[in-house]
Formats: sequence, structure tokens, C-alpha cells
Amino acid sequence: MPIKECKILTALQDVDGLADIQVYKQHGGYEALEKALKTMSPDDVITEVQESALAGRGGAWFSTGMKWSFMPKEPDGPSYLCVNCDESEPGTFKDRQLVNRNPHQLLEGVIIACYAIRARAAYIYIRGEMWEELEQMEQVIGQAKEAGYLGQNVLGTGVDIDVFTHPGAGAYICGEETGLMQSLEGKRAEPRVKPPFPAQKGIFDRPTTINNVQTISYVPHIVKNGASWFKEMGSERYPGSFIYCVSGHVKNPGIFELEIGGCTLREIIYECAGGIRDDNELKAVIPGGSSTPVLTADQLDIEMNPELWAIPGRGEFQGMFGTGGIIVMDDTTDMVDACLNLMNFYAHESCGQCTPCREGIPWVRDIVWRIAHGQGRPDDLDTLESVCNNVSPLLTPAMSTICLFGPSWSWPMLGFIKAFRSEFEAHIQKGAGVTTA
Ligand code: SF4
Repeated sequence: MPIKECKILTALQDVDGLADIQVYKQHGGYEALEKALKTMSPDDVITEVQESALAGRGGAWFSTGMKWSFMPKEPDGPSYLCVNCDESEPGTFKDRQLVNRNPHQLLEGVIIACYAIRARAAYIYIRGEMWEELEQMEQVIGQAKEAGYLGQNVLGTGVDIDVFTHPGAGAYICGEETGLMQSLEGKRAEPRVKPPFPAQKGIFDRPTTINNVQTISYVPHIVKNGASWFKEMGSERYPGSFIYCVSGHVKNPGIFELEIGGCTLREIIYECAGGIRDDNELKAVIPGGSSTPVLTADQLDIEMNPELWAIPGRGEFQGMFGTGGIIVMDDTTDMVDACLNLMNFYAHESCGQCTPCREGIPWVRDIVWRIAHGQGRPDDLDTLESVCNNVSPLLTPAMSTICLFGPSWSWPMLGFIKAFRSEFEAHIQKGAGVTTA
């Protein structure tokens, strides 16, 4: 099928000076905010977003409008919006681009979302390493305040909204929504048990909605053009576009905004990203950030429509759609090494709060390390599968850990064994007879 490019969020990415509010306004910026605050009630905005079927693009694909509807209509104190710009998932780099190239688009979405959920303030939690984006975001907030789009009595409507930035604390788990809240409160980013959910008890024990950058950036476009416009694109259950970030062994890595369901994984890799470097053979693809199970070269013709995937839509295709971070590996890749690389990352990032994760991921990493170094044992794959299945069996909702970080390493580990078992076995056999510790 022909690839359906669909530039909503990235339409203006090549416009110079878009971080200047005047340039943004020349391109229709803040018209949606004026429309929302002057012609719509907060509930009208929630209804419009709910009717658009906008789903959260952070990986969970939960209905944004429904999430907003959980917030109290008549709050008995402050409510908050948190924007998750921690973006630490290996292979995912689109939020950084959105904040870098079009920060007012995000801010306009944030202000409209605050109005809709009746939040007095929003916190944009930006990964600490993105200090340039953080500084730019602060300048953009200052411009919006000066223009009357923020602060007290926004646009003369009597609505008060403040937006603050908050630098991340340098750990992957700060991107988990309850870990983020802990971090924002100045505590260790140890995820909280749910329930209570953030809409009941979020930051500072107050009702809170957490959305990611890409999700919030759609809001001005939906408010301005209407839910039916948004639903003309994409699939029935998941309308709109999606931004894929392609990295690894491709000729043309980068971000590509395409219509949901408008292409296959093969087309993204070969048409958008230019195919495999040095015209090598493709060996494996991680389809949606490093937490998604790896796919093999014969699985590339799957349509990029989340409905068809086991997660999120419980479709027939046994894969996890994830965050759009497509990592491509060619036939020079040693899959045990690639797996070790990821497990090293996850072993470093566990917050250590719960036993299956704190003890499980270093154990898994150590086993993969010895397999990679010619010291594998005959029962190692059984042990790896047993440890991972005790944390969370592949692509199931069951888990024995407090947060989704457990499945985030057990699923890819199980995925590597499922897809490349013979390669793991070959490493073990090659090292057979070597004395191990
Ligand atoms: Fe921490 Fe891991 Fe438990 Fe999540 S699963 S709370 S990261 S120890």
C-alpha cells in the first residue's frame, strides 16, 4: 500500500524561529486556545477530545478524553496536569523533537488541557539531559505569559493557569507516571501502588492527570479542527497520526509522522528510513521502544495499526506496538550481545523497591552475560524463562511487580529467547566445557 504521510504535529517542523510566539501565531498558533476558552466550556473540550478518540501516545494507548473525565468537576482544592517529557525509553526520541521544534504547540495544548480538567497548574517534567529544551520551554512560557495566555485571568476569561518546568532526575523510572509524581515532589522516584490512581490522589495528594508530550500536542489541532476531522485519519479505534522514530542499522534514521494503519513496518524501514545500511540483510526489529518484544525479518508486513497488535488492541498479531521507537538490526548483529546490552540497561534502572524486579533483573542480566561470554549452562534458558515468567509472562496482563518496569524487561527477554532461541543455544554449546563460577 502507498505510505500515508500525515503531518499534524510535525507540519511546521522546518519553519525557522517557531519558538518565537509571533512566528507561531503567524501559523495559526493560539487560535485553538482562544476558541476553547471563549466559546467552549471545560466539559465541551473534554467531550470534543473524547469524541476524537485520541489515545495516549506514551505506549498505553488509553483514551485521553476518558482520562480527563476522571478529574473532579468541582475540585475542592487545586488539581494538576503533569506532562511527561522524561522520554528515556531506548529508541524513542520524538518528544524531544516536538519540544525542540514546536514548543508553543505543546504549551497551547497544556493550557487547553488545564482548562478542560480544571487544573490550576501544570508541570512539564523534562528529562534532565534535555537542558536546551528545558531552557527554551521556560522562554516560551515567559512569552505566553506576557501575551496573556497564561497566569491570572487568561485572555480575560477569569481562568487562572500557571505552567512550570521541572528537570528530571536522571533515571528511567522517572518516566513511569507514579515515579514521576514522586520525583516531582522531591522524593526518590519509587513508583506507587495503584489504586489510588493519579486522578484521585496524584501530586501533593491532589487530583492529577498525566499525559505525554505527543498526546497533549494533538489537543490544539483537535480543538481547532474538530473531532470529526481527526477521525478522518487513521484507524477507527485509533484515529490520527503517529510519530515513528527509526534508529539502528538503517540508511536514513529519523522521525516520520504517518497515518495510523497507513503503512507496514517494512514500508517504514525501507521507504521512510531508506533500508538497511550497506544493503545488508535485516535480521531483527524492536518495533516500539526497547520494552517491546523483538520481531524477526519475516514479521515486517504487519500493518502499523495498534488494533491489530496483541497490545494495545488484543489483535491477532503477537506483538506490542509501544512508543514508535523502531530499532533495526542487520545480519551483522549478535542477538545475545544485543540482548545483553538491553538487560544491562534495565538492571541499572530498577528502582529496587520490589523483590521480583530488584533481584530478578540483575539475575537475568548475569545469565545473559555468561551466555554471551561463552560460559552458558545447559539449563540457562529454562532459568531465564522461569524468572521472567514469574515477573510477567509474555504479553499478558499478569505481573508480580509494583510497576510496569517488571514486564518492561521480562517481555523483551522472553521475546529475544522466543525469536532467537537457536542463537542463544549456539552460544551455550560453543561455551560448553568452560568452567563457570
Ligand atoms: Fe521499582 Fe522495578 Fe518494582 Fe517498578 S518493578 S517498583 S522499577 S523495583
